[in-house]
Amino acid sequence: MSDTQPTKQGADTESDTTAADILRRPDFKALHVETIEATLDALLLDCRQTVQRVIEQAGQGTPTWHTLVQPQAEAHNALSLFWSPVSHLNSVMHSEALREVHKRCLAKLTGYWTELGQNRKLYEATRALRDGASFADLSCERRREVENDLRDFELGGVSLDADQQTRFKAIAEQLSRMGSEFSDAVLDATNEWRYRIEDEARLDGLPASAVAAAAERARVAGVDGWLLNLEFPTYHAVVTFATDRALRQRLYTAFATRASDRWPDGQPIEEQEPHAARNNASRIDRILALRAEKAALLGFTDFAELSMVTKMVTGPDEVQAFLDDLATRAVPAARQEQTELEAFAQRTLGLAELQAWDIAFVAERLRRDRYDLSAEALKPYFPADRVIPGLFEVVSRLFDVSIETVEGASVYHPDVTLHRILDGRGELRGEFYLDNYARADKRGGAWMDVCATRQRVERGVQVPIAYLTCNLTPPVGDDPALLTHDEVITLFHEFGHGLHHLLTRVEAPGVSGINGVEWDAVELPSQFLENWCWERESLDLISGHYRTGDPLPDSLLDKLRAARGFRAASALVRQLEFSLFDLDIHRRSRAADDGGAVDVRQALATVRERVSVAPVPAFNRFPEAFSHIFAGGYAAGYFSYKWAEVLSADAFERFAEDGLFDRAAGQAFRTEILERGGSRDAMQSYVAFRGREPSIEPLLRQAGLMAA
Ligand code: ZN
Repeated sequence: MSDTQPTKQGADTESDTTAADILRRPDFKALHVETIEATLDALLLDCRQTVQRVIEQAGQGTPTWHTLVQPQAEAHNALSLFWSPVSHLNSVMHSEALREVHKRCLAKLTGYWTELGQNRKLYEATRALRDGASFADLSCERRREVENDLRDFELGGVSLDADQQTRFKAIAEQLSRMGSEFSDAVLDATNEWRYRIEDEARLDGLPASAVAAAAERARVAGVDGWLLNLEFPTYHAVVTFATDRALRQRLYTAFATRASDRWPDGQPIEEQEPHAARNNASRIDRILALRAEKAALLGFTDFAELSMVTKMVTGPDEVQAFLDDLATRAVPAARQEQTELEAFAQRTLGLAELQAWDIAFVAERLRRDRYDLSAEALKPYFPADRVIPGLFEVVSRLFDVSIETVEGASVYHPDVTLHRILDGRGELRGEFYLDNYARADKRGGAWMDVCATRQRVERGVQVPIAYLTCNLTPPVGDDPALLTHDEVITLFHEFGHGLHHLLTRVEAPGVSGINGVEWDAVELPSQFLENWCWERESLDLISGHYRTGDPLPDSLLDKLRAARGFRAASALVRQLEFSLFDLDIHRRSRAADDGGAVDVRQALATVRERVSVAPVPAFNRFPEAFSHIFAGGYAAGYFSYKWAEVLSADAFERFAEDGLFDRAAGQAFRTEILERGGSRDAMQSYVAFRGREPSIEPLLRQAGLMAA
């Protein structure tokens, strides 16, 4: 990539030196698959030489921020400015050639970061900085970054003795390998399963789009009829909409036994190849024992304690109490919802006994019956060309900023637009690429990704840039894209992440924007912004009939809001089941020579007995496909989803009280939370915004567990 000309955009009055803002947009056209790896190699070499240099310099006198941290930050910034568009294009403009290069480069990057985390000399130099005389003179954010670095070095095992370090590395390698094996096993089971439908009547109830996708799958496979698979959209469509009960049962069973000894029909299978490699049960035991051993090596009682060092919560006891409290409140309400569902099933569908594969289907029928609300009826009121400018308007009013489109910017696809955010003083605060619509070569889902981080560089302060990516339904013909309400929520959610990254005032890169923000606090701005999708005052800004311009009718809004709390307690107890299970097995498991992993199946059964209200068949093998905690980053951290919801619901309550666009509240959220990033404890930021610690009550009210 090549730097664009730095542009001067107002003085940086909040820092000690006046300097120009440096804007470095990626030059997508200059990225060629053939040269990516060589450029990366050169940048990595530069990083390694920089590290070598700062270590040598540290040997000649007490290191300072400028001799130790700043040179590394500049080298890593160059690396990240180059790599971020490569990685982004691999997700949104996929090609086989890029994928291959990306994979090779990723391995090199991982190697570099691992090596850096275990560099003992660098660790010692960083400690010398922290213990030196100059440390007290550093700004809070710089001190925070150094402290975080030391913490991460220590969690990476850098201060262990030689034998322990050897063992620690072996554990890390095994855990990494088993994590990939775990997700591969789930993926293989998901991809391998096919079910051919010959009689279209069996697809009765499914949305037309799901039927068309199944027909297309059959056509590609060269068979007649319709092909179903276990990918989530198919699974979800069948269990929610298919009137054929046996079909629902078949998909449920295959889905609930993925990567287990019961796949795919719920019957025991022989433990032999290829099934042994496919069965995640023993992997789970080994992962839990290794995690416990790793925690013990680092001096923690259990893995849950280790996991929470980098989170906002104080420790496992606080999480346990939080989840227990929610369970006590939610279980009775969820039981009540289940009883209603059973009565409805009996009355209208003649189903005497609800099975696991009936729940989603009956719930959907009940929802339709009760609220008479279809996603289709809402769509004409949410044309993209109204929603997106409306979103900008909402954000501008809330946070006293303005958003402009950068005309004629160089982008990587004609659908993509570039925008800039200016604050009330006209200062450029950040830019973002908006890539809204689904395409064949684009990874599914929605996400915000960092393109450039706000940080002090040699000639000034680098302006933050983000990628906001969604997979919204593209426009058809001459009409604008008509969005579902869920899609509107997704847009707001990602925009919340974007603002967290873009509005930061922090200049130390490790704690700027979303960097260094505790895992269980990072979803606060995103979930928080979703609230503006539910209020009349903001809906009037983001909606309007695409032909007539009429506002969203009250009757539709009432139904939409009423349906928001539908079966909320049932959804909550399901999240609690996952969270409690995750916490329990990570608290009680020990290293292999100290008792090993707990009985996972038993642990789950105990949790279910407490909080589950829906039937679960004995063949269900949920843990074997629980990739979030066995192959992802959520180990002893699944509670984070709920934790962040407590924060976002409580934060929004201030606006519900003071006014949806209250200036003081908006300003406080901006300056105390969005602008602070990871530069101080999330709880400190929260209290600064709210004037007190978060209360669980707004979430309970939202879930209908407490009177409004
Ligand atoms: Zn999010």
